[in-house]
Amino acid sequence: MTRKQFLGYAWLVPAAPLMLQACTSGTSNPSPDGTPDSLIVHQPPLEIDSFVISDEEWRQILSDEEYHILREEGTERPFSSPLLEEHRKGTFICAGCFLPLFSSETMYDSGTGWPSYWAPLPDVLGTKLDTKLATPRTEYHCIRCEGHQGHVFEDGPEPTGLRYCNNGLALRFVPHDEALPDLRTA
Ligand SMILES: [Zn+2]
Repeated sequence: MTRKQFLGYAWLVPAAPLMLQACTSGTSNPSPDGTPDSLIVHQPPLEIDSFVISDEEWRQILSDEEYHILREEGTERPFSSPLLEEHRKGTFICAGCFLPLFSSETMYDSGTGWPSYWAPLPDVLGTKLDTKLATPRTEYHCIRCEGHQGHVFEDGPEPTGLRYCNNGLALRFVPHDEALPDLRTA
């Protein structure tokens, strides 16, 4: 087993409850390596350390609304995010751990009322199947803190054809002429 594989498995441990939930949906198909599609989670690059703190600590650093979205997989009201009017160049970072997730270069107006992007930055999101609605959706989360960000759909613009539909409260915007904050540490 390579070091990368080992670290990947180590990271998957805290995600076990999410995997069990997806596992019980009964809607996933095995991939060639035997892993059900719904359980495939992107692996964090080696240089990204997981950010794991207690539920009580999350409540201390997040607002009630941020906590509901990031830690309870909530969804904000459409057209409620000030980020919809953010047209400057810059970077959208995870509101939970400050990991950069999206560039303004990939943001577009989807008309849905949520900040939308046609691609994330490389290797920063993990996914799982969300079966809360009748039609399963692909949920994605920050790969560092596992904070829920939004859902990805296949009705986006070129070049990817994907729409990352994100909660504005789960993100913070940093203009390109300002320094990115240090990642939150436990
Ligand atoms: Zn995060």
